[in-house]
Amino acid sequence: MSHVIGIDLGGSKIALGLVNPKNRILARRRLDTESQRGLDDVLDRIAAAVEALRSDLPRAETVAAVGIGAPGPVDHVSGDLLDLVNLSGISNTPFRRALQERLSLPVILDHDAKVAALGEFHFGAGRGRGSMIYIVVGTGVGAAIIYQGELLYGENNSAGESGHMTVDPNGHRCHCGSRGCLETYTSGPALARHYLAATGEALSGAEVTRRALAGDVAALDVLGSAGRALGIAIASLAMTLNIELFVIGGSVAQAGDLLLEPARQSLKNYSFKAVSARVKVAVSPLAGDAPILGAAWLARTLRRN
Ligand SMILES: [Zn+2]
Repeated sequence: MSHVIGIDLGGSKIALGLVNPKNRILARRRLDTESQRGLDDVLDRIAAAVEALRSDLPRAETVAAVGIGAPGPVDHVSGDLLDLVNLSGISNTPFRRALQERLSLPVILDHDAKVAALGEFHFGAGRGRGSMIYIVVGTGVGAAIIYQGELLYGENNSAGESGHMTVDPNGHRCHCGSRGCLETYTSGPALARHYLAATGEALSGAEVTRRALAGDVAALDVLGSAGRALGIAIASLAMTLNIELFVIGGSVAQAGDLLLEPARQSLKNYSFKAVSARVKVAVSPLAGDAPILGAAWLARTLRRN
């Protein structure tokens, strides 16, 4: 088996990993996304990083394919990026095809939450399990559902928009147009907004998390509400799908039990005991490596087809 390259295309950073046949990341590159510089510029810089990773390999060894996780919405069949708010410079472009032509290598692209879920499912918390739900809690909130070993796409490719499940019909207006979405409580910007409302102090979501870890009462309160909202969403998903493993990734997951303990408690409050007693809610053990390993796994599936 050859080596493959997994790429995590994010709003501000692009992380690349050279992955060997044993699914170990041998070498990495990291660049600023700077999507406002346009498609050709982003592709040139990714291609240069891929070449640099290839040159790390001994002469006889090769890279067979490239996998990419990109923020949604994407068309995973064509590999086109659709209307991406955080990546306006490369929105609505045939990204996968253009990169494939640039690299002369097969390229596969899918939604970043799904790609990270595949990483956790095959190489992290989900190893040996049949089904799993991965929830990414960062700038936005999204989910990916793996049921009996297969990613669930839904009838119109929008399965996993769980960040916009209403957890409080009287809650804040969400940028999606709805009200009281999970994302209005649990995303990084939501932590910042709730902390500002409580204290008058403007901090980033990451700083609110750091304050909470240091024992700041207002920050602990904000993370408590975020966790309770997350637990309501997990309860609904567990009751509907009877899936028993929930893996939480993304920057807000770094709060660990400060987020997960209130989530576990509200899961108990809002679901049947027979369901909640079997549900495990865990922080993603692979963290930032999940998208790279998942993208590499996707690249390998391409090689088998
Ligand atoms: Zn929403």
